Amino acid sequence: MDEILYTIAKDSEGNFFTALSASKGKIYYCVNCDNILILKKSGRVGPRTKRPHFAHKSLTRNCQPETALHYGFKTLAAEKLNQFLQAGAEFNFYWTCEYCSEVHKGNYIKKLKSVRIEYDLKYCRPDIALLDENDDIFAAVEIVVSHKPNDQALNYYIQNKIILIQINLTSDDDIYKIEQKLSEPHLVKFCLNPKCSVCDNFQQKYIMSIINGKCWKCYNQVKVALMKDGADKFLFGPEKFTPREIAFAKERGVNIDEYISGLTGEQYNANLCRQCRTFIRRFSKLRNYFNYASEENLPIQDFLIRYNCRCCAEKKISEDDDWAQNLKW
Ligand SMILES: [Zn+2]
Ligand SMILES: [Zn+2]
Ligand SMILES: [Zn+2]
Ligand SMILES: [Zn+2]
Repeated sequence: MDEILYTIAKDSEGNFFTALSASKGKIYYCVNCDNILILKKSGRVGPRTKRPHFAHKSLTRNCQPETALHYGFKTLAAEKLNQFLQAGAEFNFYWTCEYCSEVHKGNYIKKLKSVRIEYDLKYCRPDIALLDENDDIFAAVEIVVSHKPNDQALNYYIQNKIILIQINLTSDDDIYKIEQKLSEPHLVKFCLNPKCSVCDNFQQKYIMSIINGKCWKCYNQVKVALMKDGADKFLFGPEKFTPREIAFAKERGVNIDEYISGLTGEQYNANLCRQCRTFIRRFSKLRNYFNYASEENLPIQDFLIRYNCRCCAEKKISEDDDWAQNLKW
């Protein structure tokens, strides 16, 4: 992290100014320690001129620019959320989900009825609390400059089903990017997929892709089916389809049949070319079709088939020797 400068201050009435919106000759105060700040804005640019910032008029101990940045950002971010709330405008944010790997989209004001700063929850005090129509907190926005939320707070959020939205600040410039920072949080402890009824973890999507391609052997038209997750990651082929999924694929023109290895005798379901009776088996061949299709070279149709709990699926596999055997490729 670069050196953090003071880029936020307040006037005698408590209105916030950034180093860019403040004007010279006026008196400003530190948002953290209330001492007088001087605006430093040279108007010059160049490698050795500092960006506009404030400095304490007299030497001040016990005041850190990180703390001022944290406080300033938090206050302006809450203001920004309030503006969207008053205007009734959508305020979308995006995150890569740590549970299912998909990129999700949320809307800050969907359930929002009020925004509170330093809302006291007894066990913790989120930087910004988002409250619903019952005055219950449903999300906590934590602004991280140097201190991450502590474990006590994290546990409290999890236990009380409060969504943690974490925004990491890396520069005092972030004070000018409130909206952008809010729309791209560093971490959101939430998934839009339903939870598993057994273990309460978020589930991943199983999406069946049916690809129109050519048989790798005879070059005739062939339809192949495979499963991927919500983040477009190849998962498996018909060898792990349920009977219902096989029926589903067949109804859509896919030819699936049982492959029997002459070498090892093992048997599993695989995509099969109707013309030359060649199997398109397992990872390597099937993955090629998937890769071509993903690069938009082959027509592909996607169907959301079901939600799957990774956690419980892993348990099932370890309990079931046949499955464990099947997975060794
Ligand atoms: Zn200060
Ligand atoms: Zn997710
Ligand atoms: Zn589960
Ligand atoms: Zn063929």
